[in-house]
Amino acid sequence: MLLSSDWLKHHAHTRPDKIALIEPERQVTYAELWRMTKTRAAQLAGLDIGAGDRVAALMPNRIALVTLQAACALRGAVFVPLNHRLAPVELAAVIEDADPAVMFYEMRTATLAFEAALSSAVMLIDADVPLDDSVTHMVADTLASPTDAPAGPETPALIVYTSGSTGTPRGAVHTHANLLWNHAQFLQELPFGADDINYAAAPMFHVAGLNVLTWPLLLAGGTSILVPSFQPDLALAHIRDSGATCAFMVPTMWRALLDSLSKAEADSGLAQSMGKFKGGVVGGAPCPPELIRAWAEHDVTLMQGYGMTEAGPMATLLGPRDAVEHAGSVGVPGEFVDVRIVDDEGRDVAPGEAGELILRGPNVMKGYWRNPQATARALRCGWFHSGDIARQDADGRYTIVGRRRDMIITGGENVYPAEVERVLGQMPGVAEAAVFGVDDDFWGEQVCCAVVPEEDDAGDEISLEAIVAFCSQSLARYKCPRRLFVVDELPRNGAGKVLRDELRSLPDIGTF
Ligand code: ATP
Ligand code: MG
Repeated sequence: MLLSSDWLKHHAHTRPDKIALIEPERQVTYAELWRMTKTRAAQLAGLDIGAGDRVAALMPNRIALVTLQAACALRGAVFVPLNHRLAPVELAAVIEDADPAVMFYEMRTATLAFEAALSSAVMLIDADVPLDDSVTHMVADTLASPTDAPAGPETPALIVYTSGSTGTPRGAVHTHANLLWNHAQFLQELPFGADDINYAAAPMFHVAGLNVLTWPLLLAGGTSILVPSFQPDLALAHIRDSGATCAFMVPTMWRALLDSLSKAEADSGLAQSMGKFKGGVVGGAPCPPELIRAWAEHDVTLMQGYGMTEAGPMATLLGPRDAVEHAGSVGVPGEFVDVRIVDDEGRDVAPGEAGELILRGPNVMKGYWRNPQATARALRCGWFHSGDIARQDADGRYTIVGRRRDMIITGGENVYPAEVERVLGQMPGVAEAAVFGVDDDFWGEQVCCAVVPEEDDAGDEISLEAIVAFCSQSLARYKCPRRLFVVDELPRNGAGKVLRDELRSLPDIGTF
């Protein structure tokens, strides 16, 4: 089995002059990428980093992230990309958990790196300091004498932390084989390959930014534009001018990009072209079907993917042929992924019924880093328990109903926020909405909603009465919100997911 780093070496020989990665200040060919990887591996060797050592990276999307990850593979070390959007105390907790020997940072993350690493023993290294001659001379030696325990398919390659939507982020440990199985499935299912240019704006410290398109395209010999910070207004021109053909983005990013497109069209009075851009994957959070249909009008196909950090993230995908017609569904499992829908006792539910989605496959992680209890809870008899409620439709496709933990029980009835949010999202004057439950003595829980009004609409036009009237046209009465909060924006984590715990603690939430 060729590991990811072997693929880079292979491309360095078979397509040396092909552009592999582009960042704002530079671009590198596959030959250069491989040379940079070897130099970085020599630096790691000089620091005595070897089998099993963790090497952390705190950086926005950059070429250095990729070379560092590949260099770790050459040393048998484990790459740990860290979320640079965390507060210093949050990051300090992750650093303590990962316990890396070194952490690479860059100019923009230097302050955060030093603050967060204050109480740890981790060695900090500026990724941009040119490696001196002594390191470069070590390159030949390092590669001539492999590490004591060279990496193989079953060697841990990557620890990537979950988004922390339901608590503290946990480190998912992926072996080289796990990653390759993930990449192979995306390459198999997606209509993208060596000739494509990926607009990589989703952060690569989350598994989807790293592994939905960026690494699969590196294996295929394609190109990625690494975008350190996503700015929807600039992204539009950037995508068009760069010739980008595809992207993975979370729903909020696709929404923001569409808003920029609509605004540009309104300002110019002309239909805007997306250039060679064909579409890509939307996932990581529920995606309104209207968003997929709106992009389709611009000849951009959004394929909804469902996955999670623990699966690297491939679980299911709605392929290009069905993407628009069946918008709202998350499609079918990857070729090597098995999915079941089970009840609380772990029994398969009747077809069409909702239950917890569990999955297994060669891409599913080995376990959580240094957390056997969480591993035992999540991985049972080889099946990963997602905590998501889903159902399988008659045609075999899957639909995500919501997260089990977010389910609201009001008067004994189950309400999934995602279902109510889908309806609220269609209400005129509502830009975005999040639904959550709060404790109530009589009902057990009450359905509440936080609504962001459309920019042009005055917030006071949105009333609870109007919301109930609108929702009750398509939802049972008990699912309609009983309480409304008008907010400027929804609290989200770096992965674009709504932080419901924060909503539950909105001021005066207790005053029913
Ligand atoms: P944590 O596990 O730390 O609480 P998290 O589950 O949000 O955080 P991730 O691994 O980034 O961390 O996200 C995976 C989750 O995102 C899935 O379990 C699911 O709840 C949600 N998700 C992913 N894709 C989709 C999708 N297409 N539709 C609906 N939900 C999705
Ligand atoms: Mg999770």
